Amino acid sequence: MGARVVCNCAPRAELVRVELAPGLPAQQCEACGGVLLGMADHRHWREAAAVSALPGEAAPALSDSPSARACPACTRLMQRYRAGMTPDFRVDHCPACQLVWLDKGEWQALAQAGLATRLGEIVSAAWQRRVQSDELRARREAGLRSKHGDACIDEIKRVREWLDGQAQRDELIALLRAGW
Ligand SMILES: [Zn+2]
Repeated sequence: MGARVVCNCAPRAELVRVELAPGLPAQQCEACGGVLLGMADHRHWREAAAVSALPGEAAPALSDSPSARACPACTRLMQRYRAGMTPDFRVDHCPACQLVWLDKGEWQALAQAGLATRLGEIVSAAWQRRVQSDELRARREAGLRSKHGDACIDEIKRVREWLDGQAQRDELIALLRAGW
């Protein structure tokens, strides 16, 4: 990371060195509260034995930027990766510089969700596929719940879980259908 990096928020403020967590250096824009984090620094921090628990700081309101941003170091457009369904925001990643940009509050939101050590996974295709399939499943379930009601869907889930634990699962389902 170069010595002098400016933020591309309106005032174009210079980033200042901060410690995001004990042993984790980063650069922060004092104007917008965004944070620039090196993936190598993050990896070293994560691998250090000291990282067992993060303080449960109260997360300030998220201010996820709506569009892709330019990398503060190389000015190329950063790639956006969804952190998940909850919290739902996008992490900006520059693959060339191996830098991540977190808007104000996003680091704290990651920490609260237990995802602070998993930044490397979040900026991967596998993580993105999983977020998509989780969302698809949630949307399908929401549709089923509005059609059949929560009590019905909860009951079906309970029965399915019970069936999945039975050694004779398929035979029991056949019995259920046939009405013996
Ligand atoms: Zn870059």
